[in-house]
Amino acid sequence: MKQSSTNVNHELKKIILRRGKEESLRRYHPWIFSGAIHHTEGDAPLDEGDTVEVLSSDGKFLAIGHWQIGSIAVRVLTFRRQHIDQTFWQKRIAAALEVRRSIGIADREGNDTYRLVHGEGDNLPGLVIDIYGATAVMQAHSVGMHVCRHEIAEALREVFGEQLKAIYYKSETTLPFKAQLGQENGFLWGESGNDVAYENGLAFHIDWFKGQKTGFFIDQRDNRSLVERYARGRKVLNMFCYTGGFSVYAMRGGAELVHSVDSSAKAVELVDANMELNFPGDNRHAAFAEDAFKFMEKPPIVSPYDLIILDPPAFAKHKDALHNALRGYTKLNAKAFEMIQPGGILFTFSCSQAVDKDHFRTAVFTAAAMARRKVRILHQLHQPADHPVNIYHPEGEYLKGLVLYVE
Ligand code: SAH
Repeated sequence: MKQSSTNVNHELKKIILRRGKEESLRRYHPWIFSGAIHHTEGDAPLDEGDTVEVLSSDGKFLAIGHWQIGSIAVRVLTFRRQHIDQTFWQKRIAAALEVRRSIGIADREGNDTYRLVHGEGDNLPGLVIDIYGATAVMQAHSVGMHVCRHEIAEALREVFGEQLKAIYYKSETTLPFKAQLGQENGFLWGESGNDVAYENGLAFHIDWFKGQKTGFFIDQRDNRSLVERYARGRKVLNMFCYTGGFSVYAMRGGAELVHSVDSSAKAVELVDANMELNFPGDNRHAAFAEDAFKFMEKPPIVSPYDLIILDPPAFAKHKDALHNALRGYTKLNAKAFEMIQPGGILFTFSCSQAVDKDHFRTAVFTAAAMARRKVRILHQLHQPADHPVNIYHPEGEYLKGLVLYVE
């Protein structure tokens, strides 16, 4: 197996922490903030993406990780002394696949869509890998993972063997712009094959080239199944539908009517294509390219919806946007509470990491009170098992949802 000489540990540049700043590492938190660093040692200055060794103020080994400029200065790869080479990547990827296999997500009949690597949740901070049939879509969120992308791709091929036909790299918008990496999206291996992947027996076109994230929102799989369970005989409104995941499940669940709304015309094309794949010619569905708020002011049907899904984009990308984000969630949910039929069910989500569970509940409950509706919680939802949360990195929890019964 190939081993890059720059990764041999005795040659690694070193980062020495300030006194007392090793505590969070001793609790296995995988991030080191720039303020914790006292100085660096090595023959040359640090380059963004370097694999570095981290030492305490009294020179004790703590961890190895990827360094880059920014408030999160190091993302920890390991708390042991070991080589960061292709074997390392291979073991971590194999471990991630084993988790998915053991919980019945990978290699399941009718389902070849899942997240294989979820960053810190799989002890690979800064890396996301999603599997769509025979194509893996890889996304780097750190410069270090970008630097290692070819080794990682090679490791992925070793783990999957014949099962995998292509690896697409999609990091143009997820890497720090200032690092000037000249990154481009493109295939690291193989080429575009079949773009249809399956989730719980339903077919979806996955646009890894131009789609959001890696092409599909895999994180809503379990929540879509719940929509299917409640859809029978209902009039369903799927707001912020993107590829129409929730809509397709609602159709299979026996909805009387399904309306999908997204401000992006491209998304509406995708919904229509996915509907055609699964329910060709079924006129229970219609899609609308329109702003959510405008649509809710003047819905196209007279009798109200009795199952509404609100899955908006992250209203707060950072903590400083929290206040405005909460107002946004309140306003949006109030509109849904105003329009939903008595006995209706509201699925409402937030994927903003900066908005925690309590904030989100407060926003939604305020909205219910504003609309003067009596509301009960049926389910509290979250991200699925292939988006695991490392308990030493609670920041990894981001998706929250409530299923509400509205009197
Ligand atoms: N529910 C989707 C994912 C939603 S992503 C799924 O299960 O796959 C958020 C979507 O909201 C994006 O497709 C984006 O185009 C859309 N969007 C953003 N702002 C909007 C607005 N003001 N009105 C309607 N749609 C909007």
